[in-house]
Amino acid sequence: MITTIADAYAAQSATSPLAPLVINRREPGATDVEIEILFCGVCHSDLHQARNEWHNTVYPCVPGHEIVGRVTRVGSQVRKFKPGDLSAVGCMVDSCRTCVHCQAGLEQYCLAFPTFTYNGEDKFLGGPTFGGYSTSIVVDEAFVLRVPAGLDPAATAPLLCAGITTYSPLRHWKVGPNQKVGVVGLGGLGHMAVKFARAFGAHVVLFTTSPGKVADGLRLGAHEVVLSKDADAMKKHINSFDFILDTVSAQHDLNAYLGLLKLDGTLTLVGAPEHPLPVSAFTMILPRRNFAGSAIGGIAETQEMLDFCAQHRIVSDIELIPIQQINEAWDRLLKQDVKYRFVIDSSSLRP
Ligand code: NAP
Ligand code: ZN
Ligand code: ZN
Repeated sequence: MITTIADAYAAQSATSPLAPLVINRREPGATDVEIEILFCGVCHSDLHQARNEWHNTVYPCVPGHEIVGRVTRVGSQVRKFKPGDLSAVGCMVDSCRTCVHCQAGLEQYCLAFPTFTYNGEDKFLGGPTFGGYSTSIVVDEAFVLRVPAGLDPAATAPLLCAGITTYSPLRHWKVGPNQKVGVVGLGGLGHMAVKFARAFGAHVVLFTTSPGKVADGLRLGAHEVVLSKDADAMKKHINSFDFILDTVSAQHDLNAYLGLLKLDGTLTLVGAPEHPLPVSAFTMILPRRNFAGSAIGGIAETQEMLDFCAQHRIVSDIELIPIQQINEAWDRLLKQDVKYRFVIDSSSLRP
């Protein structure tokens, strides 16, 4: 198969830092879009995956699934895009497209498993798919998103994962006015969840372990901020929440939040820590509470989210970095020190 090359950053093992690697991209086929990557957000999943915390990583691993770029070439049957268009790619680059979930626009739950943007199975070149910590990518147009006019491209990149992963469950559980909604953790996902829950009209309470994030939580849209290590402050919220979205990336006590739900309230976990989290039976059964999970969002819903963001002037709060600072940025993610999404300026990857 004919290929072009791209400059990338990759992990060669669970313990090696990210370092430069030249990778292949396929020549665009009839329905493919070739994108010159301008910006790529840094998701905590990139770090979990590269360090094999989910125990399924294939090396070399080129992370990155919050991609915004400029279309450079399109295949003969591509209708939605032309060279020069601003476009975006999120966590998936393909799915079976025929199963009941794909047919319902829920490609993220494809019964044959979606092809993820990195660490998926590359159906064209073999080996793992390579993500957005690179200069270019080639993706079937069905999995490429339009970036609406008026959105800052760098601050839009995190919407492709952090944005849709929080928008989708808040929509699915119909978060809106007259509801008390909690967001646990103020990182990349958490800060988008606060913005969306506020935009949807809910009363928003942010739970954070970081005293230094209280003022930012309020600025980003929370009505109240609770320091989760303050037992008395937590107690005041028992039996009061309609919905809580938990975005925490590491071990933490779920029961402390489940106990804050009211009758028939739901806690949805989107954080994906390495190890299982214990749930207490009595916290669930008295009074009848729900515990759920949610993964990213489908392609149509991702486009809906981007259009919603353009309409409501919502983007991510970002720190733009050159790729050469990626290992330091990952160290800061682990210290909960991100305000509130690192985004790679992809020009730093070009020679
Ligand atoms: P992030 O930017 O690192 O934010 C995570 C936040 O969790 C931190 O800022 C911190 O908030 C809190 N936290 C971290 N360690 C903690 C600990 N030990 N105890 C309590 N709180 C802690 O990460 P992210 O990119 O938002 O991703 C969050 C998680 O979602 C990751 O596990 C990621 O893999 C997962 N994810 C899932 C999906 C999905 O489809 N379900 C999609 C994307 C990402 P405070 O400082 O405010 O406490
Ligand atoms: Zn992600
Ligand atoms: Zn499918």
